[in-house]
Amino acid sequence: GGRGPAPGQEEPLMPGVKTIIAVASGKGGVGKSTTAVNLALALKSRGLSVGMFDADIFGPSQPRMLGVSGAQPVSKDGESMEAVEAYGMKVMSIGFLVPEDSPVVWRGPMVMGALEQMMRQVNWGELDVLIVDMPPGTGDTQLTMTQRVPLTGAVIVSTPQDIALLDARKGLNMFRQVNVPVLGIIENMSYYNCPNCGHEAHIFGHGGAKFEAVRLSTDFLGELPLDIDIRTTSDDGRPIVVSQPDGPLALAYKAIAEKL
Ligand code: ADP
Repeated sequence: GGRGPAPGQEEPLMPGVKTIIAVASGKGGVGKSTTAVNLALALKSRGLSVGMFDADIFGPSQPRMLGVSGAQPVSKDGESMEAVEAYGMKVMSIGFLVPEDSPVVWRGPMVMGALEQMMRQVNWGELDVLIVDMPPGTGDTQLTMTQRVPLTGAVIVSTPQDIALLDARKGLNMFRQVNVPVLGIIENMSYYNCPNCGHEAHIFGHGGAKFEAVRLSTDFLGELPLDIDIRTTSDDGRPIVVSQPDGPLALAYKAIAEKL
């Protein structure tokens, strides 16, 4: 709790939302959205009321991962919009508003306009936590988001490769610049367990994020392996935290969610 209105904002955005956590990455394809959805579902499994705001406007993947692609948010009063329900969570995504196969080709100000409209018009109601699946990178859109949305904190998802980590550092510094607390770093695709022989292969050089977290004096929140079930369950619209709730991967996400 204890969030004030964002700087330059007269009326607070989403007044009934207690905590807003951004899930961010320095670049695309590192598993930011996959991590965001599983953390949201892990928080939900603890009995919290949870919302998912898919702000990844150029590649919205939450509708598909939550098995609600094609859903249409409805308006009861012609002004506000009702979020789509998935696994007991309130979900909003630009993916509900534009056809799935049409690329979003807006410039920065239009992107911010669309995001702000979704934040203002959606009836988020009372929520313990809203997870924001951020657009990847550290450009203008991301910076404006961090300034406009009263974020409680941010987590950075990175793969262990040097280059992804370099981008993650930029992301971390962006949040620090605008005084959003960085809650820590999660290493995704940390290692690979061969399903045939059990061998653990460190494809991208395991452990880089832990090292980097120490160096940047932030917390290392945990690691997820490169695992085929994480991908297939997301593709099927039944993320691993709900489809295999007692399995080791769900438990790994839940352990990280405990720290948020
Ligand atoms: P981003 O949001 O960073 O662009 P996504 O979450 O969309 O990345 O993930 C990119 C692809 O990698 C997706 O196909 C997703 O299912 C897959 N993926 C993400 N994390 C893992 C993981 N730990 N193991 C296996 N596949 C993963």
